[in-house]
Amino acid sequence: MMAGAFHFPPFQEDEGLRSLREDVRSFLGAERRNGGIPPAPAGFDPGFSRRLAGQGWIGMTWPKRFGGHERTPIERHVVTEELLSAGAPVRAHWVADRQSGPLLLRFGNEQQQQRYLPEIAAGRCYFCIGMSEAGSGSDLASIRTKAIKVDGGWRVDGAKLWTSNAHRTHMMILFARTGPAGPSRHEGVSQFLVDLKSPGISIRPIMNMAGEHDFNEVALDAVFVPDDDLLGIAGNGWNQVTSELVYERSGPDRWLSTYHLLRAMADLCPQLGAEGLQGVGRLTAHLWTLHHMSLSIAGLMVKGEHPATEAAVVKDLGTSFEREIPEAARRFVSESVRAALPAQHAFPQALRAATLLAPALTIRGGTREILRGMIAKSLGMR
Ligand SMILES: Cc1cc2nc3c(=O)[nH]c(=O)nc-3n(C[C@H](O)[C@H](O)[C@H](O)COP(=O)(O)OP(=O)(O)OC[C@H]3O[C@@H](n4cnc5c(N)ncnc54)[C@H](O)[C@@H]3O)c2cc1C
Repeated sequence: MMAGAFHFPPFQEDEGLRSLREDVRSFLGAERRNGGIPPAPAGFDPGFSRRLAGQGWIGMTWPKRFGGHERTPIERHVVTEELLSAGAPVRAHWVADRQSGPLLLRFGNEQQQQRYLPEIAAGRCYFCIGMSEAGSGSDLASIRTKAIKVDGGWRVDGAKLWTSNAHRTHMMILFARTGPAGPSRHEGVSQFLVDLKSPGISIRPIMNMAGEHDFNEVALDAVFVPDDDLLGIAGNGWNQVTSELVYERSGPDRWLSTYHLLRAMADLCPQLGAEGLQGVGRLTAHLWTLHHMSLSIAGLMVKGEHPATEAAVVKDLGTSFEREIPEAARRFVSESVRAALPAQHAFPQALRAATLLAPALTIRGGTREILRGMIAKSLGMR
């Protein structure tokens, strides 16, 4: 799909990976039979997270001494694909497993790693992302939340916005200004591990377009954060936060968010006309390509590479693909086909959910325009 400046070496699944895929499918099959997978995909269910942890499928790539399982990023990728395509309720542990844990492994000290990683890997400790603020989303360097050094720790004042799941997670990784921005604007920022039960934190719900409570505004009023909870080095926050975004941008969650609708549309193939069949075929081919590109990034991470631009390419293509699915569904599944569907058919509910979710897909984790700017920069075009 892309050549030259980008590096997407092919990756082939072997027998071990196929057998892991089968194991995840049979676990999910049992969960489905026991009512563990609700009809709406990607719910928040601590019980499911703990059962998944029991299988060794949270913190899969982390060292065993921190509760991990020392599996490869490719194996984790396979598990992730299966969980998302089944619509499993993974949201409780998702951020901690995907990015907070890897960030702690890379920049945390031994004491922080010992404290949080085993709890995350057991499916008991959940994190949220405290980056964006009002007026500071794409331009993250302009954040105004401040952490000022005081005796024994830091005093934090400010507010974070769009903080997904802050009302039901335990910890936030907070991005705050701790010093002057410097000419690059990337100096003087730091990351902190913040217990969301700390005095001075108030969490206000923001309802999304579907009428659900996922987002929040988190106000921090003279919150005391002990020195022990500074993550990494004070002032090195920009480097840390950008490395965190690679974990956020490259995975299957950036191209499988509306898969359940494609699946429901594929089930209707016998009722679709020639144009509809071509449309489903084309989307399925795109899905397969994204699967390979995303797997290729996991392969590069196994080799210790840090494929930030490739991750941006996958997120840009993947989220555009996710948005295309509800448009295709509206175009190809006619009113008469919809009217004839049995009451319990998955299509109408999947179409409604995907339509309401679609606008957010190319915004969360960095907008399409910002990603394209990064890609253009890496091509030497700006
Ligand atoms: C579903 C969802 C979940 C989220 N969860 C979290 C979370 O848990 N934690 C968190 O910290 N944040 C979260 N966010 C916030 C998200 O990261 C920001 O919304 C995003 O970074 C965009 O920032 P903004 O909303 O301030 O928009 P803006 O940055 O104001 O952008 C507005 C528009 O201007 C465009 N634009 C901005 N700058 C440029 C530029 N330089 N060149 C070209 N175009 C530009 C953007 O692409 C966009 O179209 C979430 C957002 C969504 C939608």
